[in-house]
Amino acid sequence: MRGSLIVVSGPSGAGKGTLIEAALDEVPNLSFSVSATTRKPRPGEVDGRDYVFLSRETFEAWIEAGKFLEWAEYSGNLYGTPADQADKLLDAGRSVILDIELQGARQVRENRPDAVMVFVRAPSLEETQRRLEDRATETADAIRSRMTAARTAIAARDEFDFEIVNDDLATSRPAMVKLVEEIVRNPGIPISSQ
Ligand code: ADP
Ligand code: 5GP
Repeated sequence: MRGSLIVVSGPSGAGKGTLIEAALDEVPNLSFSVSATTRKPRPGEVDGRDYVFLSRETFEAWIEAGKFLEWAEYSGNLYGTPADQADKLLDAGRSVILDIELQGARQVRENRPDAVMVFVRAPSLEETQRRLEDRATETADAIRSRMTAARTAIAARDEFDFEIVNDDLATSRPAMVKLVEEIVRNPGIPISSQ
């Protein structure tokens, strides 16, 4: 039995990475799909663990070679999900979680109708911006660009199967773990309630 393909999307700064980490810690049989990107590594990020960091030239060669399940340009950089890694894990019966932006999420929904789509957002755009500023990993320009993308993402949240409002982590963390657990336990079966 193939595992579940889980797409997590939502504004930058919403807390996707934080909640995905909680799910990976607590849900058995779940793996993270390591994306490729042309973005420069942040301090502490490890090549091959957080992302596969590529030059634009190499990324474009990977597109040409059909290596991506989905890819998109976001805030001046290219990001994509290598298909072979995710498919190997799914074939082996593991569930796979993707942390991707809206354009990529739409491509996965189109190409893999069995994927379960989860939208994560902060309680407000103001709080999203505050989190990005506190995280302090982006320039002011990059934060502005991410906030523009955040408005577009929020407008598309109805396209997703589930929404987690990441207000207080004491509540949102267990909510995420429970949701992902249920999706992993029932691959291919639609879940009717959150
Ligand atoms: P994303 O992956 O969506 O860009 P992160 O997981 O990196 O978001 O979270 C953005 C920032 O907000 C990080 O500094 C993280 O520690 C913080 N954060 C995450 N969830 C919460 C929360 N519920 N309340 C306050 N801060 C949060
Ligand atoms: P960051 O630069 O903060 O790590 O990620 C920026 C945005 O790119 C986030 O919204 C994240 O979900 C998205 N992203 C990360 N990997 C991929 C990917 O493989 N494909 C797509 N489409 N988006 C990605």
